[in-house]
Amino acid sequence: MWSAFRAWRRKRLLARAKLDERTWRRALQRFPFAQGLSAEERKRLQELTALFLHDKRFATAHGLQLNDAMRLHVAIQACILILNLGIEFYRGWREIVVYPAGFVPRHQYTDEIGVVHQGDEAYAGEAWLHGPVILSWADVAETEYPDGVNVVIHEFAHKLDMLNGSANGYPPLHRGMSRQVWAEVFGAAYKDFCMRVDRDEDTVIDPYASESPAEFFAVLSEAFFELPDVVHAEYPGVYAQLLEFYRQDPRTRTGFRSQRRESGAEY
Ligand SMILES: [Zn+2]
Repeated sequence: MWSAFRAWRRKRLLARAKLDERTWRRALQRFPFAQGLSAEERKRLQELTALFLHDKRFATAHGLQLNDAMRLHVAIQACILILNLGIEFYRGWREIVVYPAGFVPRHQYTDEIGVVHQGDEAYAGEAWLHGPVILSWADVAETEYPDGVNVVIHEFAHKLDMLNGSANGYPPLHRGMSRQVWAEVFGAAYKDFCMRVDRDEDTVIDPYASESPAEFFAVLSEAFFELPDVVHAEYPGVYAQLLEFYRQDPRTRTGFRSQRRESGAEY
């Protein structure tokens, strides 16, 4: 009964929230990760994006003017993560706050020895447990090229990680996946990556991944979608786990080796 209701709601929403075909195609072609999607996958991404735009509420700060194209730009990137998972994976929260550029969080945090700090570095994004995703538009707008840095994918990977509590690099695994294998594979890769960063190796994967297991999962998710060959070559076990978790294989897509295009973006 419940699933019948959900299917009915979904159909009704999609009928109402249909994205204009031309706008959709133009928006999609900006993303290398979308280039190798099959027709069926593109359709699914389009439906998810429409549902996402319907379900989530965008707010702005510092006078940023957000238009439909900008909302779509965020939504497509957020939805590539859940292409084969479903909109339910973004349940339990509603708001996306967009700043014009990097922002300094007001909240304080307490370190291991109990000292409370007030952050003073500019952030490109933040994800709150049961709360909003916060993004810097300047950083969001920069993410069209596959360089392994994508603030939207990063923050929404944290959101998936937070489905079972605070972000710790351990999202809820699907049936058939092994918690032990996940922990072993990610644990070993994280340790190796931290060693590489410690000895100042110039890694292709963003060294910020060495910050914590939670950041490792988020950064490796960015790289999984933007630089899948690199993740596969450096940490094949992690690639295999991410493939099972996201239920998709970005290496099979073609957009990554295509030329770097001028964006021609309009927002
Ligand atoms: Zn992070």
